[in-house]
Amino acid sequence: MADRTNVRYDAIVVGSGHNGLIAAAYLAKSGKKVLVLERRGVIGGATVTEEPWPGYRISTCSYVCQLLLPEVIRDLDLVRHGYDVRPLDPQYFIPFPDGRYMISYLDGEKTAEQIAKFSRKDAAAYDAYWAMWDRVIARMRPLLDRPAPAQEDIERAFDGPEGEEDWRTLTKKSVAGVLDEYFESGELKAVLCVGGVIGTNAGPRTPGTAYVKYHHIMGKVGGYQGAWGFVRGGMGAVSGAIASSARGAGVEILTHAEVTEIDIGDGAARGVRLLDGRSFEADVVLSGADPYRTYLGMVGEKHLPGDLVEGVKGMRVEGSVVKVLLALGELPDFEALPGKGIGPQHTGGIVINPSVDSLQGAWEECERGKPSTKPFMDGYIQSATEEGLAPPGKHTMSLFCQYAPYTLAEGTWEERREEIGRNIVNTLGEYAPNLPGAVEGMEVLGPPDIEARIGITGGNIFHGEILPDGIFAGRPVPGYGGYRTPVENLYLCGAGTWPGGAVFGAPGRNCAMEVLATARAGPRTV
Ligand SMILES: Cc1cc2nc3c(=O)[nH]c(=O)nc-3n(C[C@H](O)[C@H](O)[C@H](O)COP(=O)(O)OP(=O)(O)OC[C@H]3O[C@@H](n4cnc5c(N)ncnc54)[C@H](O)[C@@H]3O)c2cc1C
Repeated sequence: MADRTNVRYDAIVVGSGHNGLIAAAYLAKSGKKVLVLERRGVIGGATVTEEPWPGYRISTCSYVCQLLLPEVIRDLDLVRHGYDVRPLDPQYFIPFPDGRYMISYLDGEKTAEQIAKFSRKDAAAYDAYWAMWDRVIARMRPLLDRPAPAQEDIERAFDGPEGEEDWRTLTKKSVAGVLDEYFESGELKAVLCVGGVIGTNAGPRTPGTAYVKYHHIMGKVGGYQGAWGFVRGGMGAVSGAIASSARGAGVEILTHAEVTEIDIGDGAARGVRLLDGRSFEADVVLSGADPYRTYLGMVGEKHLPGDLVEGVKGMRVEGSVVKVLLALGELPDFEALPGKGIGPQHTGGIVINPSVDSLQGAWEECERGKPSTKPFMDGYIQSATEEGLAPPGKHTMSLFCQYAPYTLAEGTWEERREEIGRNIVNTLGEYAPNLPGAVEGMEVLGPPDIEARIGITGGNIFHGEILPDGIFAGRPVPGYGGYRTPVENLYLCGAGTWPGGAVFGAPGRNCAMEVLATARAGPRTV
């Protein structure tokens, strides 16, 4: 292995998650010499396509895209580098236990017809519901592409009586409470409430879950607000396009390069040390790893103020998401909309959640340390929409499920992983009875597996909860929000910073802007 220890960089980025790559690309485009260090053999972090079985290519973690900032797509020229996203249409197929189903489309009128099957009143109320969210999204939009908003920024954005009410909705209400204000149909509420708990340790009745709902509809794909899209080739193609843009600007990316220590001297970061003994020096270090791992693992308590250490230790980092990856011999044949040929029930998201109560019950079990008996799931068969992801006649299926606790009250993940996965498949089998028999390969990733594979502490998909008390200037920790850290020349650039997780790119971009602004301003005066 070549000895690179005498090479000096302007910036080192720890981790090749999409945020780290984005930060690296922006810095390099501004003329900086940048090195990205990734512990895995593949780049992308939770934005990755892998091949668990020969010939089956599937998005291991994140599976659909909506939030990736248009500024990032434009500035890094991602389309030229291969980024190709298409909105799903239908967006969702939702079968219910009584054999009925709902489909939501990009076309609002077609969706309204579907809602009217359950309630004409709700079909009529749907526009008012979206008008409220459109307002909130517009108020929040200017706050996303800059450092965490100060109180006065928020007050300006949510000015006036209607603004105050919108702020209360966003930060104080539960997703179920918001839905109760607009709708009467249990089925429609069942569909819409899931966005309020994605990746979150909370039930639909937990105050603050309206914010989580906002987080999952604030972006656009193909011009459609709140729509999700497949990325051609799976989510690894997002990271691949960003990496290609970054390399084009001169960024070096090393894999199998686990950082064990951020080298600190006189209170300032000056480089990193790797597990294999190599070390690299730089003027600034950015970490795209989660704040817990960065501060307590790579920096060390002795370099940090006590209240920051306490804050980080208090972060709720344990996840409750299970990702099940399947190789299928045939498509699921749903009782509500039969057929094993590719149909609208297979080409968008497949949501299994019978009611708000069942989701709340699933969460309450998890709170007691139990995997949900009847988990909610968001399923996708990308191979039904795109060639080359599975062998001819076969399919991949990705199931994003909640809930299962990081720490099980009974048994260990090693002992129960298979059983938890089987229960998820069997739950889907209640709607598509051929499914359990169609499974030819299964991989189950519980929170400890996501932690081990992707390197996210606790397996929390957002590097920390995105409930209102963990967002804005309180992210990652109150008093230490934003990208800059108390260690001079050390920055955080991952999902654990404002404005939070998902394949979004805002933390990486904003952090790079702050690093560049600081460099332009010159050394800090005391
Ligand atoms: C199961 C799952 C499903 C999801 N589904 C979606 C979805 O469909 N849509 C969506 O928008 N979002 C989704 N998300 C959320 C989204 O993927 C993440 O929030 C986002 O990818 C985080 O990106 P990041 O760049 O900040 O960090 P990460 O992607 O976590 O990247 C951090 C990187 O740092 C590396 N690293 C850590 N420690 C070290 C070290 N010591 N040395 C070197 N490298 C290190 C890791 O290996 C990793 O590559 C999902 C996440 C998960 C886990």
